[in-house]
Order: sequence, then structure tokens, then C-alpha cells
Amino acid sequence: MRAVILDRPGTQRVGDRPDPTPAAGEVVVRVHACGICGTDLHILDGEFPPTPYPITPGHEFAGEVVEVGTGVSGLSTGDRVAVDPSLFCGRCWQCQRQRGNLCEDWNAVGDTVDGAFAEYVAVPAGNCYRLPDSVDYSAGALVEPVACAVHGLRRLDLELGSSLLVVGAGTMGLLLMQLAHGAGAYEVAMVDQDPSRLTLAAELGAAATATSVEEIVDQHRGGFDYVVEATGVPAAGQAALGGVATGGTFMVFGVAPQDARLQVSPFEVYNREITVVGSMAVLASFAPAVNAVASGVVDAARMVTHVEPLDRFADAIQLTRQRAGLKVQVRPS
Ligand SMILES: [Zn+2]
Ligand SMILES: [Zn+2]
Repeated sequence: MRAVILDRPGTQRVGDRPDPTPAAGEVVVRVHACGICGTDLHILDGEFPPTPYPITPGHEFAGEVVEVGTGVSGLSTGDRVAVDPSLFCGRCWQCQRQRGNLCEDWNAVGDTVDGAFAEYVAVPAGNCYRLPDSVDYSAGALVEPVACAVHGLRRLDLELGSSLLVVGAGTMGLLLMQLAHGAGAYEVAMVDQDPSRLTLAAELGAAATATSVEEIVDQHRGGFDYVVEATGVPAAGQAALGGVATGGTFMVFGVAPQDARLQVSPFEVYNREITVVGSMAVLASFAPAVNAVASGVVDAARMVTHVEPLDRFADAIQLTRQRAGLKVQVRPS
């Protein structure tokens, strides 16, 4: 089969690899769409420590089941599925208390084992979620980032009728905003430095938009009950923290450099009862994410701005690095 191969950090090529065969409990999926995310760039650059090389990346994908291993029930060839890439060990303390996304032996398809920038990929049958006919493969490949946003919303524990500010109107920020809207935040605002992204945010339901946190907090005196940092840029995180209302919650969702630091006043955290939470990857959030896409709570079609064939993987990566649009996907089949 044709597949993207990273022989070592900093190199990429599209070449031939043996077709995968399903082990017991696995199925082989013919990949129809696979999204590129920031983690893929880190893997390409050798900045994602758990990754072994050579590897075929790709963890946001949907496709068709073409082969079923022994011991698999409930899935057949021809089934259209989105695949949860998580491979939790099931035995560590975090797994045993149902927090597998924090697994002490964390693995994931496309991050630590071969993934879906390939014509075929073998995955555990239990990680497959059937797609309704109304959800095409492109929308199906968006289910993984939506599942990350669903987990984020659970971490926020959003109160009905509250106000929420999302800083960063990239794919993840826009998904979080749409889900928060659907979850009962009445006043949803977005900040981004790119005005064209704010236009889209408004079309997707943001009640207020601005190019800086200071500006939006001026409009919304007292700050927001929930503020989500969805850029990973430390300066944006620092500004975002300043938008949290008394009694409010600050969530770190964007992936910042590991050595980045924010300044927090412990007095204010105490005196104004500020809650700080993080949200990491997906945790039992695929089924609601499929529903979010199928129901239209998130507008998948508007999130996917570029689709490239597998042979043009390098161009797709370039588009992602240039932030040319929102989600860039690759179509291996
Ligand atoms: Zn991702
Ligand atoms: Zn574990």
C-alpha cells in the first residue's frame, strides 16, 4: 500500500509499505480521510517524545472496514467508521480509575504506532464508531478533534446560562465554541487576531468577537464565567487569564511549549475562587462526538477547508504550517 513514511524526524516521503493484516480483535480500515493536526507537525519535527521512528502518522481518520480479525463481533466489512486512536493500557492507576487519557503507558494510532496517512490501517475493533449515512468521510475524520472538544466541555462542567470566551478561532477553538453554544452557554464570545476567522466564528454562533481579550472584556464587563485558551501561545494564555470573571473557570486547551509559564496571582485564585483546569485528548468522548457531527451541532463542512490526495502530503503539511485555512485533510483512498 501507499503510505506516508517518516524515517526519522525532519524527513517525510510517500512510499510503499506492506498491507496491514488484522490481529485478533482488530479490523483493517481503508482510510478515506485523515486530518492533519498540530501533533502531526510535532511528530514530523521530532518534538513529540513518545514517537518511535520510522512511523506512519495520522490519527484523525474515517474509512471503511475491509477486513475483520478473529474474535471480532458487531463489525463487518463495508461498515463506515470513525476510529478513536487511543490505545490505553487498561492496567495502570489512571486507566483503572477511568482516566485512560492520562494512562501511564499511553499509546495512540498514528502517534506511537502506524496510523492513517496510508491506504490501510489496522485498529482494535472496539475503537471503531459507526458513522450514520448522513456523515461523509470528511466529516467522519473530524470526529476525533470534536471528541477532544467534547472532553474539554466535560472538563469545563459548563453551567446553563453562563458566559464563555474562547481565545483562538482555529479548528479547535471553533469546535469548542459550537459545542459550548449547544451545551447551554448563552453568551459565547471569541477572540482571534485574524478578522476572517472572527467572521466565521460569528456565522457559527459567536455572539461577540474581538481581536484582543482586553477589547472583549471591555465589552463584557467583569469578564467571562469560562475562558478557554485554545492557541497554545503563552502570551495569548496570559491575556486569556485576565478575562476570567470572579468565580470563573480558566481552561488550558491549546498545547503550549513545555517550558512556557503563565503568571497567576494566588491571592486572586483564592479571593475570587478561580478554577484552573486542563483538558488532554479524548476520553470516552467519541460517541457524543459522532452525534455532534451528525446532528449539525458542529458544522463539519465549514471546518474542513482543504483536501489533498496522499501523494501531495507535503503540500498538505505546508498548508497546515501556513495556517492557510482551518482543517486540512488527506484522502488516501
Ligand atoms: Zn490531533
Ligand atoms: Zn494505563
